[in-house]
Amino acid sequence: QISEAEVALFSVSSYACQRRTTLDNHNSNLTDALSLLAENAELNNEDGRGVAFRRAAALMKALPTQVISMSQLRGLPCLGEHSLRVIKDVLENGVSSEVESTKQSKRYKALKILTGIFGVGAKTADRWIREGIYNLEQLRHSGQTLNRAQKSGLEHYDDLNEPVTKAEADAIGEIVQKAVDSVLTGSQVALTGGFRRGKLTGHDVDFLITHPEEGKEVGLMPKVVAWLESRGFLLYQKTTRNSYLESKDGPARPASNMDRFERCFSIFKLTKGKEQETASHKIWRAVRVDLVVSPISQFAFAVLGWTGSKLFERELRRWAGHEKNMSLSSHALFDNTQNKYLRATSEEEIFAYLGLEYIPPSERNA
Ligand code: ATP
Ligand code: MN
Ligand code: MN
Repeated sequence: QISEAEVALFSVSSYACQRRTTLDNHNSNLTDALSLLAENAELNNEDGRGVAFRRAAALMKALPTQVISMSQLRGLPCLGEHSLRVIKDVLENGVSSEVESTKQSKRYKALKILTGIFGVGAKTADRWIREGIYNLEQLRHSGQTLNRAQKSGLEHYDDLNEPVTKAEADAIGEIVQKAVDSVLTGSQVALTGGFRRGKLTGHDVDFLITHPEEGKEVGLMPKVVAWLESRGFLLYQKTTRNSYLESKDGPARPASNMDRFERCFSIFKLTKGKEQETASHKIWRAVRVDLVVSPISQFAFAVLGWTGSKLFERELRRWAGHEKNMSLSSHALFDNTQNKYLRATSEEEIFAYLGLEYIPPSERNA
């Protein structure tokens, strides 16, 4: 037993964007439990609860050592009553009874399976469950009409639920670079998302495309997609055009966290190695890929917004709004006090405007 006096107390900011969160997590037993409850809340459309558990999990990820006693948590922000109860349960019993019963529940299992289909969100999954559909077999025989995304998602279910490796992300990066070079010389491709933060695997691969000459990027996405499509690289794609200019509510205040860049949600057909294909041996796999095109003038904001983590992004916007009276989006930073947009050509400049110490991508794993 350690006495109260020997317990080292942590001093941690309540904003994840003021913390350095690497992938080196000393409390994965606790963060796994809290993340599962966050996920369960999100799957049940309880967003407030979801965020509370995400913030608690992110706080635990940022601690420099393993927590072994509740007394170490005294004075820490972001830990609500419910999260503390879960942590206490894990510290005392090795597992949280709430997490265990959630994992075992028929509803949670069904929500996981159904939302594991690309194109299926929590609302659709909930509707299907209410109609007695709990798994893929039941869905296939239900006669439910699936949209194009969901059909693709179901068809490539196993591949898309297999984590994407960094090597696969790099292979896809080369293909995207080639496509972009072929349709518009001088275009640039940046790897964003979890891989930019140093993650070794991901659920998809995220790319941001731009051109150093403002305006040249207009119309780029359909050309890139056509190039990829004609060479058989795409199993599915849905391109959405840029709606930034026509938006009425102001660029820095999107209706949701969704930005308005021209984008493509796709499923790539990635050939593995040089093996021979046979009836029983498939030589390719399906991989989810997000492509986004940004004008160079918004590129720094787009890179920052697409690098994540999702919670880090949320916290940056909360910091900007609550502490600085500014509105941050993946397009721009607006200063509400000076009533003007703040231009930036690098992420470092954006952190500086926000009065934050620069946090590199590898430390944004909140
Ligand atoms: P994973 O390894 O699971 O893919 P990730 O961090 O890359 O993890 P993504 O879901 O690919 O997660 O999201 C990457 C980043 O892109 C996040 O920061 C997220 O905020 C941003 N993002 C994702 N979808 C959108 C969207 N529709 N509009 C704006 N930004 C988005
Ligand atoms: Mn990603
Ligand atoms: Mn993505």
